[in-house]
Amino acid sequence: MTTTDHDLVIIGAGPAGLTAGIYAARARMNVLLLEKVVPGGQILVTDWIENYPGFPEGISGFDLAEKMKIQAEELGLKIETAEVHSLNLSGELKEIVLKDRSITAKSLIIASGASPRTLGIGEDKFMGKGISFCATCDAPFFKDKTIVAIGGGDTAVQEAIYLTKFAKKVYLVHRRDELRATKILQERAFENDKIEFVWDSIPTGVEGFFGVEGVKVKNVKTNEEKTIKADGCFIWVGILPNTSFLNDAVETDEFGFIRSDAKMQTSVPGVYAVGDVRDTPLRQIATAVGDAAIAAVSAEHFIGNL
Ligand code: NAP
Repeated sequence: MTTTDHDLVIIGAGPAGLTAGIYAARARMNVLLLEKVVPGGQILVTDWIENYPGFPEGISGFDLAEKMKIQAEELGLKIETAEVHSLNLSGELKEIVLKDRSITAKSLIIASGASPRTLGIGEDKFMGKGISFCATCDAPFFKDKTIVAIGGGDTAVQEAIYLTKFAKKVYLVHRRDELRATKILQERAFENDKIEFVWDSIPTGVEGFFGVEGVKVKNVKTNEEKTIKADGCFIWVGILPNTSFLNDAVETDEFGFIRSDAKMQTSVPGVYAVGDVRDTPLRQIATAVGDAAIAAVSAEHFIGNL
């Protein structure tokens, strides 16, 4: 076999990537984990996690990410800050093109996660001036203020509840009259006096001069339009896969999430996809770490059979 830089390269240091790194390091593979920003992924902006086993009181996303990173590094995982530019998966070795160099690996695990979807209602203009995707980062700026939160999934409902610790009022705008979020979150939101639901409504624009002053919403059943006066607008309407470097190197579904089988293998042998970036019916930390354990062991077997 041609010489290679690494047995395994992992792209992305969220819970999935870090877990794959823990398993690979314990298998004594020559493994490198590449992370574009800082280790942790989306859980870094998750205030409180209550559904990851082993933490009966819950744990902050930041603390859980830190614990995973420490565990991985203590086992010998090398983590490098580098953005993947593209992949060349046509040869025997997997080539990972970075900004300043290319590296090769026998196997590759893509754990690049997902990012919040935008709505095109003024995010560019008002980002940092009242529009946000991160309650953990920005909620303290809205003490005793009024906020519009958009979305009906787990993120929107969980984060809207968190916002009420600071804001005096949170309008939760959802395009249907039923939430997608898990029932326990729904119950808490319905019980929360500070949350007012704006059902069957979509945001159509943001008003303001220096910052957000109101959010225009349209009722999709009656077509009635109104402006909700607010100081901030948090958008949580789903996620998009982080796959800009992929360039069709592996197969994806119609939404761009990477197709993978029960061993987490993609359409290219020896290349695996785990966590939020793959086409999965459930996106949780628990499922991401499960994916990653399977992928790391699959990669080990793949390399062993080369
Ligand atoms: P999601 O589950 O896809 O929900 C997105 C929400 O935004 C839905 O309510 C959707 O409405 C709405 N939406 C989508 N496009 C819209 C548009 N153009 N205009 C207005 N509304 C729009 O996304 P998510 O809440 O970010 O969650 C992502 C994944 O992470 C999920 O698998 C979720 O379970 C997981 N997660 C779990 C937890 C937890 O366990 N505590 C916390 C956060 C996230 P419809 O309902 O009408 O489609």
